[in-house]
Amino acid sequence: MKFAYLQKLTMVDFPGTISATVFTIGCNFRCPFCHNPELVVPPLAEGIYEEKDVLDFLKKRKGMLKGLCITGGEPTLHGKSLASFMEKVKSLGYKLKLDTNGSNPDMLNGYIEEGLVDYVAMDIKTSRQNYYRAIGLSEEEGRNMVKAVSESLDILMSSDIPFELRTTAVPTYVDEEDFYDIAQWIKGAPYYAIQRYHKDKVLDGSASPDDTYSREALEKFADIVKPHVGKVEVRW
Ligand code: SF4
Repeated sequence: MKFAYLQKLTMVDFPGTISATVFTIGCNFRCPFCHNPELVVPPLAEGIYEEKDVLDFLKKRKGMLKGLCITGGEPTLHGKSLASFMEKVKSLGYKLKLDTNGSNPDMLNGYIEEGLVDYVAMDIKTSRQNYYRAIGLSEEEGRNMVKAVSESLDILMSSDIPFELRTTAVPTYVDEEDFYDIAQWIKGAPYYAIQRYHKDKVLDGSASPDDTYSREALEKFADIVKPHVGKVEVRW
């Protein structure tokens, strides 16, 4: 398979693991505030790293790097091709972190059952009732995606894999009311992060707010969720 980018070093993306990151191409969501539009809309994306390039790089960095983060786009759209790539990375001795929007529970479950992932980060975009708006799809598609994300959440909760859930707090798409629903939805999860939004390069500039929440507002949102999950972090 092909990748859009290879980030050769990250100290922060994979907790406790010095890593590289690869970016897959294509996504089934259309979040207006997406920061990686070139990865979402296939005509904009150009695969510039072949799988072999990434594997050769990892062979050279063995010992220095310990992990690989796979992000996108939505990596699980690459299904078994991604599984095959992950197997090769694991056979080199690397740990793998997967970022996902949670829309593909069957694939997520398969990767976990095959022992291909060591850590998962899954997005919770907003409340269940507003999901379709945040992911830029129809109400019906939104309902289907909420079902899929709920299934992915169940899979993560019942697995032994460490994982985090995270919400980028984008004004217009997630507000205080939404965090009350999120708190109920993810109840019992071990770790949840609320991330600051900033308007940079986005998928749909006209549908993305210019402003952002204050740090105090994010702390208040965190307080809503805290009683229901193990740990809540504000990423500012
Ligand atoms: S922010 Fe939304 S559209 Fe962009 S990659 Fe993530 S899930 Fe896909």
